[in-house]
Amino acid sequence: MSSSTVWRNWSRIESVTPARVACPGSPDEVVQAIAAARADGLRVKPIGAGHSFTGIAVAPGVQLDLRHLQGVLAVDEQRHRVKLAAGTHLYRLPELLRPYGLALQNMGDIDAQTIAGATSTGTHGTGHAFGGLATQIVAVTLATADGGTMEISENSNPELLDAARLGLGALGVLLDITVQCVPAFQLQAIEKPEPLAEVLAQWEQRGTGADHFEFYWFPHTRTALTKTNTRLPMDAPRKPLGGFQRWLDDDLMSNTVFNWVCNVGKAVPALTPPINRLAQRLTNNREFTDVSTSVFTTKREVRFREMEYALPREEVPDVLRALDRLINQNGWRISFPVEVRVAAPDDIWLSTAHGRETGYVAIHRFFKEDPHTYFRLAEQIFRAHGGRPHWGKMHYQDASTLAPTYPRFGDFLAVRDKLDPERVFANDYLDRVLGA
Ligand SMILES: Cc1cc2nc3c(=O)[nH]c(=O)nc-3n(C[C@H](O)[C@H](O)[C@H](O)COP(=O)(O)OP(=O)(O)OC[C@H]3O[C@@H](n4cnc5c(N)ncnc54)[C@H](O)[C@@H]3O)c2cc1C
Repeated sequence: MSSSTVWRNWSRIESVTPARVACPGSPDEVVQAIAAARADGLRVKPIGAGHSFTGIAVAPGVQLDLRHLQGVLAVDEQRHRVKLAAGTHLYRLPELLRPYGLALQNMGDIDAQTIAGATSTGTHGTGHAFGGLATQIVAVTLATADGGTMEISENSNPELLDAARLGLGALGVLLDITVQCVPAFQLQAIEKPEPLAEVLAQWEQRGTGADHFEFYWFPHTRTALTKTNTRLPMDAPRKPLGGFQRWLDDDLMSNTVFNWVCNVGKAVPALTPPINRLAQRLTNNREFTDVSTSVFTTKREVRFREMEYALPREEVPDVLRALDRLINQNGWRISFPVEVRVAAPDDIWLSTAHGRETGYVAIHRFFKEDPHTYFRLAEQIFRAHGGRPHWGKMHYQDASTLAPTYPRFGDFLAVRDKLDPERVFANDYLDRVLGA
């Protein structure tokens, strides 16, 4: 147990000074910390890496820091399944999985998150045939409010798996997570600027024509920066980016120069459109082949705020056109790109891709700029097209508006009522999106 200092999330939009911080060294100590919190009438909230943009990880009572619960606990080499301690950071997985020749099937843009934090909010990457991280999870152990632990897998409490693997931290504290991995693989990446209108006109073919397709669109330009990744076996020839090229593109251009660009755009907003056009012209065509994690993830050092909505995939072109009109009509100067991705439908109760082929549209603002007007009006567009917000990214909805968009919302609430009737694991964000 340690005394508390102020905790801030990565994007610096949420902060709290917890009543106390517990840093358990074992699953038993997690159970004890929950019991001690209950005895003191305090709520409990585990934190991951603090990379959610919403207040989902805000812990005014007892903040559980799971930094000591990391690493591989068991491996089923035949079935390619790996049981990880819940606090394991994704950036440790290449090293941890290498001895077994395994990898995650798909990943998002970064690897700073913990496995528990990432799955709890529905973190996803791109790929029309691939689901988010939670779809790769086959079992969990949960420390529950009643002082016990519960195994949830295909053999134990299987009816709870689709609630617990994407549980918003509302059902208990995940102690370990078993991931269905795949044999390690490489990705061939082709990155190039293309006319936005063409990409939108051929959206269905583009979104489904490659293993992993995504694009970025800088507002005030007519160009989409497309990324097309193809899965290749480990013995295919490796052609990684040279160290200098990677530093130039990913460190200098994407982080150092971009940080400067965002600061200039904030000071002199009129410069944002020409800077965006220049940035898009300077973007290289690149082609390289490397191990999957090095291609899926990049560094993000320029802080920003983000809203992302999951849409029926076919709605993406109309949503992008509507966003373009919104930005032009309001005369805003937006320095950050819009990111577009896809995912396969799944059955997980609170998955943003539940039951439908999904297209994701994410909008961003530099952290020194006020995101709310842009995000609120963009949200109206997303909602008009059947959107569901990412649980870890900014949105303005509550349980009354979210419930109708999830067919199994009521089932999730019933499980919550059963596992946490006294709301030991609640906070203001969960009160808002699930009800108190
Ligand atoms: C730069 C950046 C890039 C991002 N890129 C992507 C992306 O490509 N795709 C995407 O989908 N998202 C992305 N995100 C969002 C991010 O993946 C999610 O918000 C994720 O939840 C953050 O994980 P975390 O470990 O930081 O968890 P936190 O934000 O710390 O916590 C998230 C939730 O998990 C709960 N939790 C943590 N540990 C446990 C546990 N042991 N048991 C139960 N609940 C627990 C917390 O209580 C909280 O409710 C990005 C965020 C940032 C800042």
